[in-house]
Amino acid sequence: MDNQYKELCEKLIKTHSLSLGEYETLIGQRDEEAAKFLAGEASRVSRSIYGNQIFVRGLIEISNICKNDCLYCGIRRSNRNCERYRLSPEEILECADVGYQLGYRTIVMQGGEDGFFTDEVVCGLIKKIKEAHPDVAVTLSLGERSRESYQAMFDAGADRYLLRHETADEEHYKKLHPDFMSFQNRMECLKNLKEIGYQVGCGFMVGSPYQTNAHLAKDLKFIEEFKPDMCGIGPFIPHHDTPFKDEPQGTVELTCFLLSVIRLIYPPVLLPATTALGTIDPMGREKGVLSGANVIMPNLSPVDVRKQYELYDNKICTGEESAECRGCLENRMRSIGYEISLTRGDIQK
Ligand code: SAH
Repeated sequence: MDNQYKELCEKLIKTHSLSLGEYETLIGQRDEEAAKFLAGEASRVSRSIYGNQIFVRGLIEISNICKNDCLYCGIRRSNRNCERYRLSPEEILECADVGYQLGYRTIVMQGGEDGFFTDEVVCGLIKKIKEAHPDVAVTLSLGERSRESYQAMFDAGADRYLLRHETADEEHYKKLHPDFMSFQNRMECLKNLKEIGYQVGCGFMVGSPYQTNAHLAKDLKFIEEFKPDMCGIGPFIPHHDTPFKDEPQGTVELTCFLLSVIRLIYPPVLLPATTALGTIDPMGREKGVLSGANVIMPNLSPVDVRKQYELYDNKICTGEESAECRGCLENRMRSIGYEISLTRGDIQK
């Protein structure tokens, strides 16, 4: 790390903003020393806001049926080898109850874009969860829907919505998605969600096919300007039944570096150490937290369907019961000096 690079880091830490070119340099000229320095600063910033608390979000994977066809994703509709499942509303409510018993105060419902989950069905689920557990935050991650649909679900009580932008570069977006999907629409969805009043999460995969440092610089600029409440980033991991099966996976190193940078761009952001990060490195989530992440998303799905929600190969935590996941994460976080927080874990702006 030379003096010029160090100045770039200082500028980021002070102003929370760099130009596109500067972000590109920050990424392109990083070395081990730089990564260590930024990770130290990022975790210090995170601790100054959230202490040593790591927020947990119980994740229910409600369906792997999807009308979309994202080229990277194992549950894309073109994947004929994917064994499809859909949880019934009763099963979903049961999972939410288990999560509540385990102490989780955020329940995330994530799934493919499955037509069964109409506004009526989803709103019914939100209302039932909120009725049973008024102190729970409900997060949705159900892909692209109309503004009216987002509004209806918000009115039913949903608090947060996760929709990764996937890439902030339109040309890159086209290389990762089928022709019928559009960058404009995805961005429009994010804008709508924010306007409606959700706490909104965006994000992207690190090391996705065709991704360059210039693309990543755009992702960082987008995050700087959009100021998402949450930001999900994890390494791209190839899935054997997709067109990207032979593409290289993203790295722990770059993912952790970017976690630090994102923390420094927007200090209060809720930043998960993702399951994908834990999948490519047994200590991935710990490394993520030590780089500035402050959220973990344990799986609450019924064990018998977990393997089927296979976005990428070798996904971890598909065999354990929900209670085991909770204990395992608690130990993992303790081992690095952090505690699991059983609160809603809202952003502290
Ligand atoms: N259908 C919802 C939920 C998507 S799954 C939606 O569209 O938002 C959640 C995230 O998993 C995606 O946004 C994507 O960034 C990530 N993902 C999908 N395939 C992946 C892969 N092969 N490797 C790593 N992450 C992947």
